Amino acid sequence: MSILLKNSTFIDWKTLDFSHVNIFIEKGKNEIQFPDKTDHLVNRSGTELLDCTGKFVTKSFGVGHHHAYSALARGMGSPNKKPENFYEILKYVWWTLDRCLDREMIEYSALVTAIACAKAGSTFAIDHHSSPFAINGSLEIIAKAFDKVGISHLLCYEISDREGIKYKQEALDETESYLKDHQGLVGLHASFTVNNDTLEQAAELMNRFNSGIHIHVAEDPYDQDFCLRKYGKRVIYRLNDSGLLKSPKTLLSHCLHIDEDEKDIIRNSPCWVVQNTESNLNNNVGYFNSEHLGSRIMLGTDGMHSDMLQSSKAAFLVGQGFDNIDYHLTYKRFRNIHNYLIENQFTGDDENNLVVLDYNTPTPIDKNNFHGQFIYGINSNHISDVISNGRVIVRNRKMVLVDEAEILEASKYHADRLWRKMQE
Ligand SMILES: [Zn+2]
Repeated sequence: MSILLKNSTFIDWKTLDFSHVNIFIEKGKNEIQFPDKTDHLVNRSGTELLDCTGKFVTKSFGVGHHHAYSALARGMGSPNKKPENFYEILKYVWWTLDRCLDREMIEYSALVTAIACAKAGSTFAIDHHSSPFAINGSLEIIAKAFDKVGISHLLCYEISDREGIKYKQEALDETESYLKDHQGLVGLHASFTVNNDTLEQAAELMNRFNSGIHIHVAEDPYDQDFCLRKYGKRVIYRLNDSGLLKSPKTLLSHCLHIDEDEKDIIRNSPCWVVQNTESNLNNNVGYFNSEHLGSRIMLGTDGMHSDMLQSSKAAFLVGQGFDNIDYHLTYKRFRNIHNYLIENQFTGDDENNLVVLDYNTPTPIDKNNFHGQFIYGINSNHISDVISNGRVIVRNRKMVLVDEAEILEASKYHADRLWRKMQE
């Protein structure tokens, strides 16, 4: 169905130019038009009308690093042993959780994540999945769940050696079979859980499918210490020596504990860095500092939530003490996911992805002060409607393609099953 957004204030996501326009999205076209006259469009059968009087319309958002698999952890009890450090957080929380995931839990984790993305204005998610005892077909389950809600995606399975060779092989096979039919990345957990054979196998897959790697890098000093001890080199050197940093599709998540030489390598590579401020605070692993890292930086949530407006505010506020970041750079990092997706010709993020903001402000708003409104004013409560790939997926704050209440009810049941299984 074609869509007419009538009488909107459109904010161009690149130039921040404001214009009072009607926006028409013709069915089947990955573009937007700005017709002066709309009567003929309103009367045309099959045109959905959104009255945007007094509302802002701009391009929808995207999550640069997500973990749908962690969605059912919200409100979960403490682990059997209280984690004392980053490694123990992985061991007692996330590696305990992901081992218990079955196919239905994966499906509902993905459905509720996609709904959360949509309601927070994101129509694209780059996800990093792990379910070591339910690997086969897991990416297809997530893809179908995201599709059902209307969220475009770039998925990968987290390959690692932590569960032994059998599961490593399954993860490689899952990646290979998924990449044959879908756009995606080659996922690796982190340098410290991936041995040299596995790095080589991942590089082979990356090259064969003309893809990139999606990996956690130096999230905690543990990653560097382990790498130096076992391989005699630092993490970025190790990844670079394996040829993993030559792809512009490669995503390096975190990059907190890297030295100046490693920053040089990243800055001179075509890779992208993904900053996840709130997750770093939550795990008490340190603070992101972009100095000398270059400008290929985007933002993610690391599975903590799906709200990129919130992540942008965190990047800005925490960055006041630890990073050289201002309003302009915050917005740039928030929007860089589109540049990454365009540059690499991934599909699902064309201009017919829009968000409608029911945002009124006590102060004047225009191109010149938009960044300040973005940091201090606009939040996901203002999102009234979302259009993904030319389809309305959120209308008046309600999901359109799926029954949210039914999914949340079922997901509570699966969360309860997961929590019980984790206690066994
Ligand atoms: Zn992560």
